[in-house]
Amino acid sequence: VQDVAPVLPVASGDTFVPLVDGTSVRYANLDVAASAPALASVAARVSEVLPLYASVHRGAGYLSQVSTALYEASRQSIGAFVGARADDVTIVTRNTTDSLNLLAGCVPAQADGTPGRVLVLDVEHHANFLPWQRTGAATVLTGGATVAATLDAIEGELARTPYALLAVTGASNVTGESLPVADLVRLAHDAGARVLLDGAQLVPHRRFSLEATGVDYVAFSGHKTYAPFGAGALVGRRDWLDTGTPFLAGGGAVRNVRVDATTWHPAPARHEAGSPNVIGAVALAAACEALATVDPASLAEHEATLRARLVDGLDALEGVHVVHAWDDATDPVGVVTFVVEDHDPGLVAAYLSAEHGIGVRDGRFCAHPLLSRLGLDGGAIRASVGVGTAGEEVERLIGALASFVADGPRAQYAIVENLWTV
Ligand code: PMP
Repeated sequence: VQDVAPVLPVASGDTFVPLVDGTSVRYANLDVAASAPALASVAARVSEVLPLYASVHRGAGYLSQVSTALYEASRQSIGAFVGARADDVTIVTRNTTDSLNLLAGCVPAQADGTPGRVLVLDVEHHANFLPWQRTGAATVLTGGATVAATLDAIEGELARTPYALLAVTGASNVTGESLPVADLVRLAHDAGARVLLDGAQLVPHRRFSLEATGVDYVAFSGHKTYAPFGAGALVGRRDWLDTGTPFLAGGGAVRNVRVDATTWHPAPARHEAGSPNVIGAVALAAACEALATVDPASLAEHEATLRARLVDGLDALEGVHVVHAWDDATDPVGVVTFVVEDHDPGLVAAYLSAEHGIGVRDGRFCAHPLLSRLGLDGGAIRASVGVGTAGEEVERLIGALASFVADGPRAQYAIVENLWTV
């Protein structure tokens, strides 16, 4: 895939990084699943609005009015990008973690006053696991070896116990794989439960629509959607969000405050206490607008091509094994996790960086239950691609690992090892 070009230009496109031998090389950012570089168009938009920001929803001055208008227009764009229905609310949050914690405070209690029950799988990122575990009302299902077995387990559990919510990932941050959304929605809705999709790894990589899928809530992060840190979103059904526990207590979320009683706004203001991050919202909206201009089929094809090369190239190397959550998952996004037999993942990742200028992630990816079930308590290595990834970067990773496997690390690996263990 040497000649595959990025779909959209990213601002960090030509960053050169130092190697341990004193030379430098164009950075190969194969860690976009952690944080994706800003699109060039997003960087341009941020520079344009940076000089203009002022207080949002709180000032009468002209720039305050401009900032408020920009913020509310951004909300519209962000909601539209994920196919918000007419009655849905778009809450601008800090990231997916905030969005999911926010929703956890909004699941209605059962008739007897105990918290509404939530069904989750053990494949989830901690952000879509711990907020539910903490409510004490979550049941954790072990994922099956296949999609079909996992769907059967979900169906069985939904039939046994009444659930308010099925909280499930749109694409695993470990393997890029997913369960079919249409089946999840059908099973949950047939059992009277709503569906929350953790869209952190899905929304930046596939065209997703609440309206088209029937999913009730989606959460995602700007910094994985080619915008900078600090803005994300929760989008979905209004009723729970209008009445749930306000995410933060503070200015802007309240209608009226007395010393002894407070009345709260409905959503979205209810959950957006504090001065809003207008630049972050504008940046995320700009990223959504840019992604919306790309033909969905070419977006998916670009990633599928790079991912297939990664999986085949890595699996072909002696002692290198790609990890799967399900044997039969279809249409995975561009996230590939692998292990190199007899080598610590952290050292392999350090070697790739220091000797080849390739950025990957190593560790347990905030998904300890899944890694544990897959026998990977020692961690693994993750490479991920996106709209800004060129085929050359993928080939470099495979080439670097091929020489690691064939010749062992070069002499410099010892230096890296020392650096890493210091
Ligand atoms: N869910 C998934 C699937 C993720 O990949 C991540 C980030 N790794 C999160 C949730 C949390 O996102 P954030 O750190 O932006 O809150």
